[in-house]
Amino acid sequence: MARQFFVGGNFKLNPSSLQASTSLIETLNNANLDPKTEVVIAPPALYVIPVQQIVRKDVKVAAQNCYFKESGAFTGEISPKQLVDAGIPYVILGHSERRTLFHEDSALVATKTRSAIDAGLKVIFCIGETLEQRESGKTAEVCEEQLKAFVGVSKEVDWSKIVIAYEPVWAIGTGKVATSAQAQETHADIRAYLVKAVSPAVASSVQILYGGSVTAANCKELAQQPDVDGFLVGGASLKPEFVDIINARK
Ligand code: PEP
Repeated sequence: MARQFFVGGNFKLNPSSLQASTSLIETLNNANLDPKTEVVIAPPALYVIPVQQIVRKDVKVAAQNCYFKESGAFTGEISPKQLVDAGIPYVILGHSERRTLFHEDSALVATKTRSAIDAGLKVIFCIGETLEQRESGKTAEVCEEQLKAFVGVSKEVDWSKIVIAYEPVWAIGTGKVATSAQAQETHADIRAYLVKAVSPAVASSVQILYGGSVTAANCKELAQQPDVDGFLVGGASLKPEFVDIINARK
C-alpha cells in the first residue's frame, strides 16, 4: 500500500505568545491544503491545548516531547497518559535539540518512545547524524544505532504508530538542506536496516520524513524521491510557505 505523504511542523519554542500562535493557525485554517497530506503541528507545550481547540480538524496536534512515566515526582515533565487524556494524538521524540541540548541518549529516547506508544500516542521518532559523522562516512551507522535502541525495546510494538524523521543535524536550522540524492540514499539505508532488524513489511510501510532546512523552494524535488514520505519542518512551519510544503506533491 502506498505510504501517505506526511508533513509535520515543529514550532519549537516559537512563537512567544498565544496570540501569535493563533495567527499562524488562522493561516492554516484558511489555506487550501492537499487532502492527501497528513498534517501535524507541534506548538510549545503550553499552547498544545488552545491550538488544538482552534485548529481545523484535519490538522492534528503533537507535543514536542514527553517523559516515560505516567505521573509522579518529575518536575517539569508531561506524561504520555496526560497527552492522551488531553486528546493530543502525536508526540515528537528524539529531536536532535533534545539529544544535544538536553542530553537525551538513544536509550532514553527508546524508553520514551515505547512508553508513548503503549499509552496510545503516535510518535515522530527523530534520528540523524552530525556533520562530522557524515564526513567520516558514518551516516548509516549513526541512524542505525539510534533506531537500534528502540528496536531493542520494541517487541510486539505496533509500527503503524511510528513515523521516522531523518534529520541530519547539520541541516537543522542552518539553511543547508540535504540534496535530494543524500536524503534518498539515507532513507533507503534506513529501510534496508528495518528489513533486517524488524521485517520487510514494516520497512516498506513506515513513513520516513526528511527534516532540515526544508522550504517552499526545495520541497518539491525532495518530495519526488521514492523513499521520502514527507517532511518535518522547523523554521518554515512558522511562515506562510508551510502551506506550499504541505502541498509539495499537489
Ligand atoms: C526541525 O527542527 O525539526 C527542523 C527540521 O528545523 P528546520 O526546518 O528549521 O531546519
